[in-house]
Amino acid sequence: MGLIQGHGGVGVVEAVGPEVRRVQVGDRVCVSGTPQCGACYQCLRGRADMCQFLGRQGPKDLVPIADLRDGTPVYANSHIGGLAELMVTFEEWVVPVFTKASAADLGMVCSCVAVAGLGCTASQVLADVGIGSIVAVVGCGPLGLSAIQGARIAGASTIIAIEPIQARREVATRLGATHVLDPNVEGDKLVEKVRELSNGPNNRLWAGGRDSGGLLGGAGADFVVEAVGADRAKPKLESGPDPTGILPLQQAYMMCAPGGHIVTTSLPTGNITLPAVVFTIGGRTHHAGQYGGANPMRDIPRFVELLDKGQFDAKLLATTIVPIEGMLDAYQQVVDRTTVTALMTA
Ligand SMILES: [Zn+2]
Repeated sequence: MGLIQGHGGVGVVEAVGPEVRRVQVGDRVCVSGTPQCGACYQCLRGRADMCQFLGRQGPKDLVPIADLRDGTPVYANSHIGGLAELMVTFEEWVVPVFTKASAADLGMVCSCVAVAGLGCTASQVLADVGIGSIVAVVGCGPLGLSAIQGARIAGASTIIAIEPIQARREVATRLGATHVLDPNVEGDKLVEKVRELSNGPNNRLWAGGRDSGGLLGGAGADFVVEAVGADRAKPKLESGPDPTGILPLQQAYMMCAPGGHIVTTSLPTGNITLPAVVFTIGGRTHHAGQYGGANPMRDIPRFVELLDKGQFDAKLLATTIVPIEGMLDAYQQVVDRTTVTALMTA
């Protein structure tokens, strides 16, 4: 089948069907990575990130939007197909945004990765990062760097960024990380180091302090966001300690404080091993962080507001912006890790 890739995008509405209410011709819109119908069970229970339209993407659900010259039908991946000059999508995927932001900045903040990253720390759906929280972010690609900005905006007092690439650690610091750690330098001591940094100024048990030792595994971050993933090829910049992406998932779990939250966002293949006791003891909550739990119609306009008010920095993340013809080279830069994010413009 012919398939147009591109898991999200921004643009201007050219035409609408007769029953469309959400947007009008001429609106600037974000085509969200996930849909929100507003009427299904998941949308109504407050989990719009799991809208049941999301599952309607199999071959029998897709509608051809064009034909190749030989008559082969062409489909839009996930009903989105963002890598096209003209997108044909459903109302459920489209969020109007009212802003004067540049298309590139808007493309960054409306991307699947930035919405997921901000969703993890600033949407209050999965984990309610509050003022004075200690947040650890494992992996500082575009998703992790967005989570760092969300944690800063949410009022976290300590933001520990963990990333093997020096240039990305520097970006993390500029975006609000209070500590940066290189997992290659910390090695087996990474989890311990995060616990140490999570003690805060008061380690006295009887004065409200955090316990740095004890039966439950000691202190740790209140919220941990994992955004590492597997290497598709060996990076041209610094590689992390585990190309499969499994080790950072384990570490993310273990560096979380008792009673804290872990949000994982990567898609490695394989199995993860954890001490079985943590499934009952320690009170940690794990969230599958698909789309960061973000509620598209509510949160994307809020995130655009953060961009407009200068609180979310899109420019440090969108480090490659190329016309569609440069797409393959842009993908290569992402695989090589020599750019943070690549955006394609029509
Ligand atoms: Zn729904």
